Amino acid sequence: MNKINILDKEFAVSIPFEHIQSTVKRMAVKLSGDYQNKKPLFLCVLNGAFMFAADLLKSYTGQCEISFIKLASYAGTKTTGSVRTLIGLEEDIKGRDVIILEDIVDSGITISHLIEDLKSYEPASIKIAALLLKPAAVQKDVRPDYVGLEIPNDFIVGYGLDYNGFGRNLKDIYKITE
Ligand code: 5GP
Ligand code: MG
Repeated sequence: MNKINILDKEFAVSIPFEHIQSTVKRMAVKLSGDYQNKKPLFLCVLNGAFMFAADLLKSYTGQCEISFIKLASYAGTKTTGSVRTLIGLEEDIKGRDVIILEDIVDSGITISHLIEDLKSYEPASIKIAALLLKPAAVQKDVRPDYVGLEIPNDFIVGYGLDYNGFGRNLKDIYKITE
């Protein structure tokens, strides 16, 4: 079954589970190599990145810590342009190597807001690992350090991403069909 309905919209499979898994695995292998002699703190941006983080970290081979923050910027299928912090950071990140795990970078507003915020706590380094990147981000000069896949500017759901709260549990990624 290739098409599904979520609330009032129809979606079709865009990135199958197997393709997501091989992409996430490749990112984990690269990160494991780059951080071999370090003990990074992975910061998963909830809600959307929870599946990505879970899969990536199972394949990460080094020592690391994992924490979570909860941000929101989307309403329905559009960004609201402002970022709200719903759950903040608990750990002291001073002197730490921080890797932000994001589901998708679209306008780049969320990521640039978060980085500015984190910098004030003086981490040793901050890198971004995003499963997906949309072209708008490139225009705004926000470039994640690790990118899984570049995708067109369609609204997508599944694998952690939602449409008004629904669709996060889907194992494939779907795009809106209009
Ligand atoms: P940005 O601030 O870069 O515009 O957007 C980042 C956040 O908006 C992402 O972390 C994600 O939660 C949400 N987002 C961006 N594009 C999409 C999309 O196509 N589908 C869904 N469900 N969320 C998106
Ligand atoms: Mg997100």
